[in-house]
Amino acid sequence: MSLKDLLDASTDNSLSGQKWQILRQSIIKRLLSTGNATIAELGSELQSSVPTVTKAVNELLAEGYVVDMGKITNSGGRRPSLYSINPTCAYFLGIEVGRTSMSIGLQNIKSEFVSLELGTSFILENTQESLLELCALINSFIEDSLVDKNMIIGACINLSGRINSMEGFSYNFFFSENRPLTEIISDQLGLPVRLENDTRAMAFGEYREGVVDGEQNIIYVNYSWGVAIGIITDGKLYYGKSGYSGEFGHSTILDNGILCQCGKLGCLETEISGWSLVNQFKEAIKEGKQSKIVLDENSSSLQHHAIIAGALNLEDNLCVELVSRQSEKMGRYLSIILNIFNPDLLVIGGDFSLLGDYTLLPIQSALKKYSLGLVNRDVKLKKSSLGRRAGVIGACCVVKEKMLSSLINN
Ligand SMILES: [Zn+2]
Repeated sequence: MSLKDLLDASTDNSLSGQKWQILRQSIIKRLLSTGNATIAELGSELQSSVPTVTKAVNELLAEGYVVDMGKITNSGGRRPSLYSINPTCAYFLGIEVGRTSMSIGLQNIKSEFVSLELGTSFILENTQESLLELCALINSFIEDSLVDKNMIIGACINLSGRINSMEGFSYNFFFSENRPLTEIISDQLGLPVRLENDTRAMAFGEYREGVVDGEQNIIYVNYSWGVAIGIITDGKLYYGKSGYSGEFGHSTILDNGILCQCGKLGCLETEISGWSLVNQFKEAIKEGKQSKIVLDENSSSLQHHAIIAGALNLEDNLCVELVSRQSEKMGRYLSIILNIFNPDLLVIGGDFSLLGDYTLLPIQSALKKYSLGLVNRDVKLKKSSLGRRAGVIGACCVVKEKMLSSLINN
């Protein structure tokens, strides 16, 4: 029996059977929400006698939902045992789908990875074949993990672009008018599925497992191939009416006449993003600037990762100059976000965050220059600590939060 079955319903419909099941569920919910406990603590919190709780805990131990953590130390008398949820009684699957690769991880209920694959080759195309290939890769990962699929509470898949998580639709990839994408993927995987915008999941991962240290109002910047922000207010993800909040990169405030990937002219991404960095690099080479990065004949394979690596590992002048210039501009436009939100913390994540000070210092100095003094003094600026794992960790955190809390609150 999986944790989901235990929390879902009672198999015994008699009054005493239902009461017994409710007590068992309450013990599990208590251990999940506030951590380890002794029999005496469970009895007092759940208003049940010690012999009754002992019997229920023994049953849950035998079924593998609970583990005995050993005796606790106290000032005297008989030392009671401490009980914990069994980390292997439920799992969560997180999947980050990028343009040219995907990452996937399986976490146990204590948020520990039991299996993790970063950067598996996968070309994201807006076709049925691409969707089926994605599902096949996920199924094969689950099979290789040797974890029973029935023990997986659910999966969260991060995609870029407009995602309506509440209704399960993705509008930029694999859109079907007739059926939510979550249902289509769920049929392929045999698991409950949630969709999440990639930046929002990364922001939540950073909040739960990353660089956030108690702050409750956070702006997370996904500075990668595209640019977007994830917003956390009072410790909760902000979605907006339909889940399309955070499209910072598609603010059409530049008067440069450059066509953005979204089809509009002059979006921020046309000057500040991985794809615009690639264009700026090619332009500079055309103008005769020198670089240690050698372009192939048609230069079509150049990725922003190569320019970031050029700055970081080769200290290539042109690469450093381009990323610093972009990041200074990023700081300038982020000052608008600071003035509007007055957050506790601004986290720079995404591929550009791997550059460390090459990205952070220009952003910091521009924020100082362009945002209001009082607002600027309030905010801390930090680099993401999750790096390339941010998306997968975020997806696991989202699925755990959303699916487990709905079971717990039933
Ligand atoms: Zn745009």
